[in-house]
Amino acid sequence: MVQYKQRCVRCKKNMVLMTSRSQFPLCYECEKAELQGEIDDPEMKKMFDIPEEFYKNTPFLRSIKKNYLKFGNLSAKQIEVFKKVVEELRNPKNKEEEKEKKEKV
Ligand SMILES: [Zn+2]
Repeated sequence: MVQYKQRCVRCKKNMVLMTSRSQFPLCYECEKAELQGEIDDPEMKKMFDIPEEFYKNTPFLRSIKKNYLKFGNLSAKQIEVFKKVVEELRNPKNKEEEKEKKEKV
């Protein structure tokens, strides 16, 4: 995966770490406002109730939450992947091990 930094298109001040081609260069500070919103569904509320750091470091989680706030629903697949990513962030041990393995090869 190629990672590079690009200047935020909105504030033209902060650098954004780009992790995919489809990612829109918007820094967390600018995007934060779009992540605020009332969630009525208790299950969704619970799912989105994760440490701010997770949103900050993971553009994918932000895009899912933005989608939900915009459209009011998510596909089963989106929910599944969201939970999986959060799970991995909560238990980063596995990822570290994977990284180690890769570095040794
Ligand atoms: Zn910005």
